[in-house]
Amino acid sequence: MKIKIDQETCIGASACIAAAGKTFALDENGKSYVTNAEGDSPEAIRDAAQACPTQAIEIIEGN
Ligand code: SF4
Repeated sequence: MKIKIDQETCIGASACIAAAGKTFALDENGKSYVTNAEGDSPEAIRDAAQACPTQAIEIIEGN
C-alpha cells in the first residue's frame, strides 16, 4: 500500500490523524504528511482516507 497526500487539497482537518495517528501527522504548515506508512493497520489507513473531508489522501493498493 502506498499513501499519497495532496497537500494543496489538505485543509489540516486532522481526521486522518484521528483515524490513523501513527501514520499521519501535521507539518508546521498544518498539512498532513505520512510519518510511517505502516504505522496503523491497512483498515485504519483506509478509514483515514475515507474520513478526509477533502479527499486529499490517495491509497494505492499493492506494494
Ligand atoms: S483528513 Fe485530509 S484534510 Fe484533514 S489533515 Fe488529513 S489529509 Fe488533511
